[in-house]
Amino acid sequence: MIKSLFVLALTLSTSSVVFGSEYLIKFQSVEPGFENAFIARNGGTLELVSREGSVYKWTTSKSAGSLKLLRAEKSWNKNVVRIEPNKKLKIFLSPSLEEKRAELTEALAILKKKEKKEEKDSDSAESKAGSTPYPDNPEIKNPTKQETGSDPLLSNQWGMLAVDAAGAWKKTPGGKDIVVAVTDTGVDYNHQDLVNNMWRNTKEIPGDGKDNDNNGYVDDVVGWDFAVDDNKPYDLTLSLMDIILQGGNPGHGTHVSGCIGASLNNKMGIVGLAPNVKIMALRFITEKGQGGTAEAIKAIDYAANNGAKIINASWGGESDGEQEEDQILKEAIERAGKKGVLFLAAAGNGRANAQGGAAGFDIDNDPKPVYPAAYQLENVFTVAAIDSENNLATFSNWGNKSVKIAAPGVKILSTVPGDKYQDTIINLGSINVTWDGTSMATPHVAGAAATIWSTDPNMLARDVAKKLMDLSTATDAVNGKVVSNGRLDLHGLK
Ligand code: CA
Ligand code: CA
Repeated sequence: MIKSLFVLALTLSTSSVVFGSEYLIKFQSVEPGFENAFIARNGGTLELVSREGSVYKWTTSKSAGSLKLLRAEKSWNKNVVRIEPNKKLKIFLSPSLEEKRAELTEALAILKKKEKKEEKDSDSAESKAGSTPYPDNPEIKNPTKQETGSDPLLSNQWGMLAVDAAGAWKKTPGGKDIVVAVTDTGVDYNHQDLVNNMWRNTKEIPGDGKDNDNNGYVDDVVGWDFAVDDNKPYDLTLSLMDIILQGGNPGHGTHVSGCIGASLNNKMGIVGLAPNVKIMALRFITEKGQGGTAEAIKAIDYAANNGAKIINASWGGESDGEQEEDQILKEAIERAGKKGVLFLAAAGNGRANAQGGAAGFDIDNDPKPVYPAAYQLENVFTVAAIDSENNLATFSNWGNKSVKIAAPGVKILSTVPGDKYQDTIINLGSINVTWDGTSMATPHVAGAAATIWSTDPNMLARDVAKKLMDLSTATDAVNGKVVSNGRLDLHGLK
């Protein structure tokens, strides 16, 4: 059988969405010693992804080919329930960044030339544009004592104003004691406007090199980095050049986190929708803007097993048109649902044709749905993006069955690494790239969900979801395009 697999591999090219030759395998039973037996028979290495899901990552030295054929060959191991590629998942980057890449590259080249001329020191100009702005993995700071006073940038947060966040802060505990897991590129856990709202694993003694709470992770204080497997899920942010040329991370997870839960009345910066929430930082997407499905599953399991009530997923992947291929990720989200977790998913920035004025494709019907947004699970709540004029964002996906609500997602001001705030990623004079995306709309809803949940911690995920729907405000631009026919609003919250 191994031989026939090998022959198949030679005749088929590896799909571009597959990470080398990494596969996710769901086994029927994982009796002690089964790994050795599997490897003896099939080769490669096995790494545990989810004990509860009986899921392993199989890295094979064979360049395995078409998954369909692999599946047809399933009889090669009766213990295998399902085998899928470890697909790449990506942050939903600001669409204008993608659109303007060519222009930006040109502008950056001119800028670099200028710098070189002025400084006559090509090395320093080179390193300025080429190096990462902040060193990776700073020590995790403790909460700090902060001043009291209004937040100077709140008046620029149109999204907060539009959904009457201030009203909700007065009427509710603002997400107190609710843990929101940010599964993303990491979080600047030391950011002045986030440091006091980071989740702290109180059962873990920081820095003693032991897994005190026996959850499988040593010194996991604010979360975990599943991309590189360490306890510092820092939001490593690439240089401007790398962001432009390679689509890298401009501080995505930190921006998402600020929308959810930046501190209120600390006399600095902005405010999140749930300013008393606890943010659990779960990094599985790297500074290059993508991560593996195996690592996403680990992050989802961690969130559900360590007290998160809400998971924010401002990322996704495109299916090849076969839903079944994403079944193992779907099961992880379902597993979290059984533990009471609400899963907030970005609808995706998929609209293909900006020139034609197309405004998103319907992910209900599209042959290439975005996952996890399109999973039909009770605990998945999918979000489209609107602008400050209540228009559906030109890039935003919608779906009158699969997308629940619209929320602010164009030119959003929030936190970025290094105690900074941005509503604009790149400003090169004539070329302006703002923080846009269903990536930004989703954490508005995650924060709103935390705020609602904190009014009654006994609510079930489905009660919170219903409340979000009931409170939404009818909005013409999304009428018939999202299930609620409206946009996020907390105005009616009591
Ligand atoms: Ca631990
Ligand atoms: Ca603040």
